[in-house]
Amino acid sequence: MADQAFLTHLSETLAGISAEGLMKRERLISSAQGAHVQIGGRRMLNLCANNYLGLADDPRLVTAAKAAMDGHGYGMASVRFICGTQDLHWQLETRLARFLGTDDSILFAACFDANGGLFEPLLDAQDAVISDSLNHASIIDGIRLCKARRFRFQNNDMADLEAQLIAAREGGARFILIATDGVFSMDGTLANLPEVTRLAAKYGAMTMVDDCHATGFMGPQGRGTPAHHGVKVDILTGTLGKALGGALGGYIAGPQPVIDLLRQRARPYLFSNALPPAIVGAALAALDIVEGADDLRARLIENARHWRAGLTAAGFRLLPGSHPIIPVMVGEAPLAQSFAAALDARGIMVSAFFFPVVPRGQARIRTQMNAALTREDLDFALTAFAEAGRETGVLA
Ligand SMILES: *Cc1c(COP(=O)(O)O)cnc(C)c1O
Repeated sequence: MADQAFLTHLSETLAGISAEGLMKRERLISSAQGAHVQIGGRRMLNLCANNYLGLADDPRLVTAAKAAMDGHGYGMASVRFICGTQDLHWQLETRLARFLGTDDSILFAACFDANGGLFEPLLDAQDAVISDSLNHASIIDGIRLCKARRFRFQNNDMADLEAQLIAAREGGARFILIATDGVFSMDGTLANLPEVTRLAAKYGAMTMVDDCHATGFMGPQGRGTPAHHGVKVDILTGTLGKALGGALGGYIAGPQPVIDLLRQRARPYLFSNALPPAIVGAALAALDIVEGADDLRARLIENARHWRAGLTAAGFRLLPGSHPIIPVMVGEAPLAQSFAAALDARGIMVSAFFFPVVPRGQARIRTQMNAALTREDLDFALTAFAEAGRETGVLA
């Protein structure tokens, strides 16, 4: 039994989070995920989903998921290596590898698990991992679980990356792996992969890119940031939970021996359930759609351009870039919360991000564009942002 002192201690921690204005609250959506969602009887315009291509409620994916359930049932009731591998899993792994241009790929329950399970089987104490300071939490955790020496470079600072490569080499590292997000999700900025891969070649290091916020919509046919930059990386990780339909699931793609060893040793793969057929079947359909979705990608880019231009003209402070993640910088967490509330009152759903997700004093409203939003939606939202900005003092 948890003793009363312990529970009181937790309640005090929660009260502290609340007093700092850092409490996250969840909204109950009673419709499908989409450009518009139903919340508490209200129709809200949704500007915070990772639904980049608008596929989360696509009827073709719903149909594919149903067909997979009809043919392959609901659940797997097993990890992959005992009795949890269907023909569909193998098809999706092969299909993902072909899409990404790698030898093979391996599915996980989430990209969080893919990143959590990637490093420990591949590297040991003789090796080194060099990680960008803004990498996703799952990369940070995955690196913590492995015995390799850890080096960190300041976000996208290529001089610092080179210094860390030199330090790792001078430290006698056998193998060196550079790990970076392809897109930094709090800022919407792109990793400098041309320079990362050049430095990797110079120092004989390997590269790993987490492309969760790029696969499906960046680069030719949506093949991600390496394709966007025209470079090759060694290992890619990604999610089925964003542009590729938005359900759940992650993967690692890379050279055959990497994937083969992960199937033997990656702990989240060995000790967690296989993805259910509905998700796997729908993901196969999503990849077919995504490869041919130049129209959706063009609309997404145009929406991001229009939204950035409109916010800038209204006087908001944005982080520069061109990615559909467009953060509106606010400053302190309580102001970000009241701005989000003023937008909510106007029928706009956004999410305020603040410490510990971003540094203190850099609270923001992270808006995200997608291909399902219309010009009318965006112009409605621009009016609401301007009004709410003046009302709360975010705009002078
Ligand atoms: C969303 C995200 C993840 C986690 O993906 P899930 O499949 O939802 O676990 C990992 N890395 C990055 C960079 C992400 O944006």
